[in-house]
Amino acid sequence: MTSTVTLLKRRTTMRMSDLAAVASPTSTTESFLLGASKGGGSTGSDVGKRCCGHKHELVGYEALPDFLKHNEFVLDYYRSEWPIKQALLSVFALHNETINIWTHLIGFFVFLVLTVCAATMVPMETGVATSETGHLTNCTSNPTVLMAYYGTNGTAVAMHAALRRNVSVPVETELTAAAALSSAATHPVTRWPFYAYLCGAMFCLLMSSGCHLLSCHSEHACYVLLRLDYAGITGLIVTSFYPLVYYTFLCDPFYRTLYLAAITVFGAAAVAVSMLPVFEAPDLRWARAALFACMAASGLVPIVHKLLVFGARPEAVLTTGYELAMGAFYLAGVVAYGARVPERWLPGKFDLFGHSHQLFHALVIAGAYTHYQAGLVYLSWRDMDMCL
Ligand SMILES: [Zn+2]
Repeated sequence: MTSTVTLLKRRTTMRMSDLAAVASPTSTTESFLLGASKGGGSTGSDVGKRCCGHKHELVGYEALPDFLKHNEFVLDYYRSEWPIKQALLSVFALHNETINIWTHLIGFFVFLVLTVCAATMVPMETGVATSETGHLTNCTSNPTVLMAYYGTNGTAVAMHAALRRNVSVPVETELTAAAALSSAATHPVTRWPFYAYLCGAMFCLLMSSGCHLLSCHSEHACYVLLRLDYAGITGLIVTSFYPLVYYTFLCDPFYRTLYLAAITVFGAAAVAVSMLPVFEAPDLRWARAALFACMAASGLVPIVHKLLVFGARPEAVLTTGYELAMGAFYLAGVVAYGARVPERWLPGKFDLFGHSHQLFHALVIAGAYTHYQAGLVYLSWRDMDMCL
C-alpha cells in the first residue's frame, strides 16, 4: 500500500516524457516483475526519504550509499537499505542481484544432492562378498553407479560387467578384481577429506547467496555478510586441497601433514586479512582476486609433487586433468570478476542478466563440480590401493 501511495506522489511531479516511460508496457511489466516500485535512477533514494520513509524501491547506482557502490558499470535495479523482510522476499523478485543469488543457491542444492549421492555410492561393508569360487556374489546392482565410482579401475569395472553378463574371464583376473572390490568395500579409505570439501563448497555457495540477498539491508549487514562471503571462498579453496593432499600422500604422513597444515594456515591468514575494513575497498578488487588466486595457485605445489611421485598412475593423471580444468574455470572467473566484463564495454546493458559477477558465479560452480569429479577418482584410487 505504501508503495502505491509513493508511486502516485512521484508521478504527479514527472515531466510528460517520464509519464510516457512509466505508461509504456515495458515499465508496467518491470513493476510487476520487481514486486516493488522502481526508483528511477539517481532520484530514487531522495524520493524514498521524502515520502514516508519508503525504502523498498529499486534505485540507480548514483543513489546508492558508498557501502553498496561496488560496480559503476551496473547502472540500475539496485536495492538500497531495504528492511530485512523485503530483502528476504526479494529472492523471488527481479533486480540486479537475482541471478547472483540463484546461481549459488541452486549450486548449494546441487552439492547437497552430490553429497547424498557420494554417501550412497560408498561401498557398504556387507555389499560385496566373494563365494568359494572367487566370484562376486553380491556387488552393488547398479552398474552405472559402479562405473561412476570405480570408473578409473578399468579391470574391476570390466570384470564386474563381465560377471553380470555371465561372460567367462580368466580366473586370475577375476580373483584380482574381486579382491580389489572386496577390499574397497570392507576397508574403504577414510572419507573425511572428501566430505570436508563438499561442506566447504556448500558453505561457500550458501554464504555467497546469503550475502547477495541481504547485504543491501544496511552497512553493518553488508560488512558482516561480505566477511562471511570471503570466509566461504577461503573455505572452498582450503578444503579443495584436502582430498588432493590427503589421498595423494595417504602413505606419506610427513608431506600429508605439511601440505594440509600449510594451506590451513594460509586460509586462516586470508580470513584474518579479509576482516580488515580496507579489504572491501572497490579499488582493491584486484588485490582481493590476487589473494584468493595465489592461495588457489599454491595447489600447483602438491599437484607437481603428485605427478613426480605417481606420474605413471592413471588416477594421478586423471585427477590432475580435473584439477587443471578447475583452475582454468576459477582463473576465468577471477579475470571476469576483476575486469568487470562485459558490462565495462556496455554499461547498463547487463544490469539484470550477463554481468561479470554472474559469470564468476557460474564459473565457480563449474570449477567446484570438476573438483568433485576429481574427488571421486581419489576415493576409487585409494579404496583399491591403500598403504601396505
Ligand atoms: Zn558473489
